[in-house]
Amino acid sequence: MKAEILSVGTELLLGDIVNTDAQFLAGELARLGFTVLYHSTVGDNEERLTALLEMALLRSDIVLTTGGLGPTADDLTKEVCAKALGLPLVEDEESMRRIEACFRNRGSEMPETNRKQAYLPQGCTIFRNNHGTAPGCAMEKAGKIIINLPGPPRELKAMFLEQVLPYLSRFAGGTIVSHTVRTFGIGESAMAERAAQFLKQENPTVAPYAKDGEALLRVTAKADSPEEADALCKPTVDALCALYGDLVYGVDVDSLQQVVVQMLRERGMKIGLAESCTAGLIAKRITEIPGSSEVLECGIVSYSNRIKEKILGVSPETIEKYGVISAETAAEMAMGAWRVSGADIGLGVTGLAGPDGDERGNPAGLSFIALTDGKHTLARTVNTGRGGDNREYNRFVTSSNALDLIRLYLLDEK
Ligand code: ATP
Ligand code: MG
Repeated sequence: MKAEILSVGTELLLGDIVNTDAQFLAGELARLGFTVLYHSTVGDNEERLTALLEMALLRSDIVLTTGGLGPTADDLTKEVCAKALGLPLVEDEESMRRIEACFRNRGSEMPETNRKQAYLPQGCTIFRNNHGTAPGCAMEKAGKIIINLPGPPRELKAMFLEQVLPYLSRFAGGTIVSHTVRTFGIGESAMAERAAQFLKQENPTVAPYAKDGEALLRVTAKADSPEEADALCKPTVDALCALYGDLVYGVDVDSLQQVVVQMLRERGMKIGLAESCTAGLIAKRITEIPGSSEVLECGIVSYSNRIKEKILGVSPETIEKYGVISAETAAEMAMGAWRVSGADIGLGVTGLAGPDGDERGNPAGLSFIALTDGKHTLARTVNTGRGGDNREYNRFVTSSNALDLIRLYLLDEK
């Protein structure tokens, strides 16, 4: 089936925001087997939106719109789409109830303008918004389908994955199920090379993706029922897990930090952190996960040498002899974090986020990580090889490596 994405929003046209909604939808639609023919963007303007929509309906079977479902006068996507298909808007009680409840929970009065969000094209399939007020919908007429999705990416993604995907899979001829095998510590090309035989498979298909130092494989199967699709995926998922061994940090998990927090909880263990170049990023990522208070004792941002010495007990001689960016300093920071926190594990990180290297000849992107439980010490050196404006990337990859080191330590602890 031919599909196209129509993004509505003047901010997009002005370049104020990047069209991540279209990027997300395009990937999902391609995976479902739709042929995506066009991406277009139009401002919040009734006339131009109508013209574009009419053209889209001539050349595609499904048109997915993003944005313009809000309560204000310039939010007109749904109204224009319903008009194009000749469908009246009717009040949906459940939507009205949800919108009212949304405001009640926030303790504020519902503005009258929000009522219009509960009016939906007659006979449409409604997609509930679990993260905002505007519901989405799919309207069908004369073999054409228009799907309206809210602009905020968080709302759009959740709505798509939870409700639109099942709705669309019937047009894709069956059900699509996918599982994601996430790895850390192997590059995308090395991973793809090792999985070469799997990448040629048909059902399930296996596709590699890489992002910020992580690599993942998405296993996708199509079948008549979710159970059958799942059964098709399983042998491949198992084989990939066996192939990559400890490099796999999880299947269908969200992040390294999710896995680390879960593993610490399962073992009843706590951790204390001493972060220099990541300056709290590891603590931030751990505390994104509910229940992290059970596992994180403290995070110390020991940016200056004075604090490394005074609070963490790193010896001035170590810093003098090996430099502050060194495995030795990281090891003493880890020991300090362990001692100060009284946790089971202490972790220390020191490195150079960039843009430049240091006077000792250390390049930007070099960092040292150490972990101790008071008896054993694990160490890792990271070198991203990236200077310049990769400061955030370097910090993120360093924090991922720290989380991965904790994970590997905990795997052995079992
Ligand atoms: P709202 O109820 O927030 O008004 P809406 O469905 O009307 O939602 P818009 O007003 O078009 O959506 O956009 C709301 C916000 O969502 C924008 O300010 C922008 O931050 C984000 N957004 C909108 N469209 C996109 C897009 N295509 N890609 C990424 N972000 C987007
Ligand atoms: Mg809006």
